[in-house]
Amino acid sequence: MSIPLDFDAGLAMSLTFDVEIISDRGGNICGSDRFSIEACSQCQGQYLYNDELKDVYFDPEDMSRHFFKIEGMDLPPCRYCGGLNWQFSSNLPGQTVVQTGPWAWVLKSRVFTFDDID
Ligand SMILES: [Zn+2]
Repeated sequence: MSIPLDFDAGLAMSLTFDVEIISDRGGNICGSDRFSIEACSQCQGQYLYNDELKDVYFDPEDMSRHFFKIEGMDLPPCRYCGGLNWQFSSNLPGQTVVQTGPWAWVLKSRVFTFDDID
C-alpha cells in the first residue's frame, strides 16, 4: 500500500478557520462544522464549504448566498467560469492559494503551523 503524496492537500488540511467570523458574517454554524476551501475542477475558483451541513458558499462578500451540495444533484453553474458540469476539484487549493484568494478572511491564522511540532 502506498501513501499518496499530495503536498497541496496536506497544506490545505492545516488551514484553521475562524468560525466566529464566519458566523458573524452570516454563515450557518452548527457547532461541529468541518470547513474547507474547495476549488472548481474546471477553473480553480474557490468556494467555502462546510462538510457538516453540505453548505457551499460562493460569494465571499455575502454569506447569505449559498447552496447545498446534495449527492446526485447538479451544482448550480460555477460562479467563476459559468461551467454547468463542474465538481469540487480533487486537489484542494494550497494554503498559499487560499491566503491570497477571496476567502482569506475566513482563516484564523495566516501562518504555517508546522512549527508547532518540536
Ligand atoms: Zn469554475
